[in-house]
Amino acid sequence: MGVDRLARFRTGGRTFHALLVGDDRAREVHGDPFAGDGEPGAAWEVDEEARATSSWELLTPCLPSKIIGVGRNYGKHAAELGHDLPREPLLFLKPPSSLLANGGTILVPEDSRRVDFEGELGVVIGREARHVPEGRAFDYILGYTCINDVTARDLQARDVQFSRAKGFDTFCPCGPCIAIGLRPGDLVVETYVNGTKRQSSPVSSMMFGVARLISYISRIMTLRPGDLIATGTPEGVGPLKPGDEVTVSIEPIGRLVNRVGAERSDGRES
Ligand code: MG
Repeated sequence: MGVDRLARFRTGGRTFHALLVGDDRAREVHGDPFAGDGEPGAAWEVDEEARATSSWELLTPCLPSKIIGVGRNYGKHAAELGHDLPREPLLFLKPPSSLLANGGTILVPEDSRRVDFEGELGVVIGREARHVPEGRAFDYILGYTCINDVTARDLQARDVQFSRAKGFDTFCPCGPCIAIGLRPGDLVVETYVNGTKRQSSPVSSMMFGVARLISYISRIMTLRPGDLIATGTPEGVGPLKPGDEVTVSIEPIGRLVNRVGAERSDGRES
């Protein structure tokens, strides 16, 4: 089965999903990709004809009710931050207001002296999930995306909760699309800063895999269609500064590219 790449666009005041065709064309999707109980394509129809996307604005591929982060899910990353390995998944939440589309600008807040990139595999939920056994977990996934779990490392060290350090606006770049029809086992997460490779790790070295995470999280909270799980970052995290360009790349999902800027006290880019 081939992989479909589902993106979300806006043009002429209209917002819609479309399946990417190559780098610069897409076939519009009619209907809600998050309806139909997570069966890809069950509740939507796709135009035969592909149209040019060059004048369309690319949005985040989904609108989650919540973003669940997983901390220290790769042993070498836990070690580089000086932490022991967690015995069960370490969860936190990022607010949906932190979402940022491919091409958007990550704003370094005035309150932080150290903002890090964290390239991660994102899991997009396709149907409502509660108390899901591990063996059924893949039935609840629509697809996979790239996430940059941007983190104010200095504030994370000062706080008990991660809410502030991981919750700033623009701290959850996500995209460019949702890849439907692939298995996560063979994927490799890579992060580049200004073209230099800084992270590269197979997803298979996660301590708690995707099925375990969905089962575990769904025992706590109902996962809704479009919800996102940021599955943790491998080793190699490092700081970003205004002027940098950061890319999270997972083939065949694609490349999530964001510029970094400085935030003024009024919230705008300086
Ligand atoms: Mg992370």
